[in-house]
Amino acid sequence: MNFENLNLSKYLCDQLKAVGVKSPTEIQKNCIPKILDGIDCIGCAKTGSGKTLAFALPILQKLWEEPYGIFALILTPTRELAYQIADQFAVIGKPKNLRHCVVTGGMEMIVQARELSNKPHIVVSTPGRLADHLESCDTFSLKRIQFLVLDEADRLLGGKFDKQIATIFKALPKERQTLLFSATMTDTLEKVKMITKKNTFVYESTAEV
Ligand code: ADP
Ligand code: MG
Repeated sequence: MNFENLNLSKYLCDQLKAVGVKSPTEIQKNCIPKILDGIDCIGCAKTGSGKTLAFALPILQKLWEEPYGIFALILTPTRELAYQIADQFAVIGKPKNLRHCVVTGGMEMIVQARELSNKPHIVVSTPGRLADHLESCDTFSLKRIQFLVLDEADRLLGGKFDKQIATIFKALPKERQTLLFSATMTDTLEKVKMITKKNTFVYESTAEV
């Protein structure tokens, strides 16, 4: 099994080869075709199983099929994770002029606001700072995003971020594809099936977490 078999474009397959990623991991094999088909997806597999590319590759493929505005919002609980995810998007997307923006605490709001106004394709953010931007800037809109990804979904939805997540969800369009990735399938994650569509594909790795 290789990335070509997953219906990924030649550009993405070549780029993966160029950075030494040879064959898809289990979660990538299972989730990428579903996401390309437009299906909401919940993917659970242990840390290091390749969850980032499981959502980044199909998002990049769709982005280049019809690019406009902020295309995808990736939420993750920590600044470190946000930068790691952004790096993986950048490695694959740079040669095609992918514009991405990391929105987390620890950086000037005004600098970030300017980056957001440059219409990045991909925004990777922690909930607190994104909610701050939504509340403080009337012209910042997420109404046209096509993908919402909750990375480390169990941590995002565990209670700590409820207020910020509520602010963000109010700003999102109802019509979108929602993808949740997590290392563990907790009760919280069972609950989130409410924010995905009815025909959501659920992949749960059988490997030990
Ligand atoms: P997690 O499931 O914890 O989110 P990551 O997506 O961060 O894992 O991936 C962990 C590491 O594995 C990263 O360095 C990533 O570049 C690498 N990786 C992802 N997919 C593959 C693959 N198909 N083959 C080889 N390495 C991969
Ligand atoms: Mg991860």
